[in-house]
Amino acid sequence: MTSGSTEHHSGPIVPAERENMRLRTLRAMPSGAWAAALAVLMLTLPGCTAGPPGSREPAQAHVPEVHDQVPERSGQPEPETVELGTTVLGRPMKAIVFPGEEGTILIMGGIHGDEPASADLVRRLQRYLRAHPEGLAGWRVVLITRANPDGLAAGTRGNANAVDLNRNWPTDNFEPSAAHGETPLSEPESRALMRAIERYRPSAIVSVHAPLACIDPDGGARSERMARAMSAVSPLPVRNLRAMPGSLGTYAGEELRLAMVTYELDRRRTPPDDPDAYLDAHLPALLVAVEGAW
Ligand SMILES: [Zn+2]
Repeated sequence: MTSGSTEHHSGPIVPAERENMRLRTLRAMPSGAWAAALAVLMLTLPGCTAGPPGSREPAQAHVPEVHDQVPERSGQPEPETVELGTTVLGRPMKAIVFPGEEGTILIMGGIHGDEPASADLVRRLQRYLRAHPEGLAGWRVVLITRANPDGLAAGTRGNANAVDLNRNWPTDNFEPSAAHGETPLSEPESRALMRAIERYRPSAIVSVHAPLACIDPDGGARSERMARAMSAVSPLPVRNLRAMPGSLGTYAGEELRLAMVTYELDRRRTPPDDPDAYLDAHLPALLVAVEGAW
């Protein structure tokens, strides 16, 4: 769809439908318009670094709400659930795979178990894509909603061995330790995540974290481009964080040279009073990531 296309409706537009139109319009904006939207967002949002400590407000204004009240459509291929392995405590590691021909993107949440909002957001994306398969834009989308199931169940950053799975990747800067693992991929969870990368060979990866409130491109120009496009429709600004030793971002972005973005929510836990309102503010950024050829 182009930005000049028109929508045809046979009846009055209900609020939910209007919100969906806003989302489609936003996603169809040319890059110049994205830049303008980004400029507005940067003026209105405190972001990662701006403002004194304690001045940060939940940044949810100026982004579309999205709803999934449209029933699932018949004839759309169902996503496949694939087992990638098991955790230290024997929980299954699962990927949800939406079929597509254009290319593959992998999106995961919850690699740090004390950041459950990140798992909530990827699960929200899964629910949205099931109701709105046009959001796939022809791409194969591999979702891992719970990259660290044992840690999420226990509320711990690491897995059941107290190893940080985002420091356990085979990078040049890997630092062996009890907290990082004595060798790269020492943990069954990181091996299962690696299996997903080797099996699906994504050209782009988004890993959702919290609570640093920014969008961090890892690696080269493609990652930067994807981060900027996501930020244009997100409450969060782009900010380059340090390449952490043994992190997925360092592995996929710096070493595999994939388009790799670490999406840092501003809250570890989704606000319980209106979870969808919080998560939906971040959904457009993930949908932009899905449909781009980064
Ligand atoms: Zn994290």
